[in-house]
Amino acid sequence: MRKTFDFFKPATAQEALRLFNRYKGAASFLAGGTDLVAKMRSGTARPKALIDIKAIGQLSGVRKTRTRVTIGPLTTLTEISRSKILKTLLPVLPKTALLMASPQVRNRGTVGGNLCNAAPSADMAPPLIVLGAKARFLTRQGTRTVRLEDFFTGPGQTLVTGKGLLSAIVVPVPGPRVKAAYQVLTLREAMDLSVVSAAAMVRKERGIIREARIALGAVAPVPMRAPEAEAALVGTRGKDEDIEKAALCASAECVPITDVRGSREYRREMVSVVVRRVLEEVRN
Ligand SMILES: Cc1cc2nc3c(=O)[nH]c(=O)nc-3n(C[C@H](O)[C@H](O)[C@H](O)COP(=O)(O)OP(=O)(O)OC[C@H]3O[C@@H](n4cnc5c(N)ncnc54)[C@H](O)[C@@H]3O)c2cc1C
Repeated sequence: MRKTFDFFKPATAQEALRLFNRYKGAASFLAGGTDLVAKMRSGTARPKALIDIKAIGQLSGVRKTRTRVTIGPLTTLTEISRSKILKTLLPVLPKTALLMASPQVRNRGTVGGNLCNAAPSADMAPPLIVLGAKARFLTRQGTRTVRLEDFFTGPGQTLVTGKGLLSAIVVPVPGPRVKAAYQVLTLREAMDLSVVSAAAMVRKERGIIREARIALGAVAPVPMRAPEAEAALVGTRGKDEDIEKAALCASAECVPITDVRGSREYRREMVSVVVRRVLEEVRN
């Protein structure tokens, strides 16, 4: 760990960005610190300055309008798991938060930190992607909003890495016939990162799947959509054979690596299992 670093605790996002820019990419924003502090201790992150964003009220909490839900990046995983708005409109998100880490880590760790840390296994990413979430962020160039799947640029890298501040996650309110779910495969029952994860969203009309989104975690450099699997489902009734076909497409589309949690071959095989399970959950 770097022995000394500058420390700031600004009250506004604009002030945070101004301080950040002063360090020309060598500063880090500090949210809950559950990823960043561990990296600083191990020496994999050595920021010259920490800009603690926890005092910036505008970055916290969950708000809704008639058409969309806006989640502040500083909203903790515990707050996500308890939010009445999310439980009512986007229940897959509270369920996902409860799968993650431990109560202590969930009390500190934030949804924005999970996305900006950009681990390929980041659990919040696949369910947000299938819900059609967008990431809004501030850089020197101004404010930008992109589809969440386009926010990730590589392992540990996003459009804000070294450049700016994630300021909101914006999710459209789904229609009444939309179902979404998230499933993970882990080596242990609790407190473990995913070997494979998959989220799915399906919109059915008169028994036919009209829209489908599938997102995979931990099987590519970034959380990824599985467009061939999605296309295989649209226009079907979501019967066992339709789901099997989509699951095999997803397995062919992913690009996993071998690491301590599993081999490339095992991950590819398990993608079809996890995608099948998650589609069985959303098809009715
Ligand atoms: C014991 C343990 C268990 C865990 N289990 C899981 C798990 O099951 N699933 C999982 O996905 N993760 C898990 N994690 C990882 C971690 O807890 C989560 O990723 C958490 O959500 C990170 O949030 P944070 O607020 O602590 O991020 P921080 O550590 O504060 O920040 C992480 C990174 O994001 C950047 N950042 C944070 N906020 C912003 C912002 N608004 N704009 C720009 N950059 C920003 C920081 O500069 C840093 O680079 C675990 C961690 C631990 C220690």
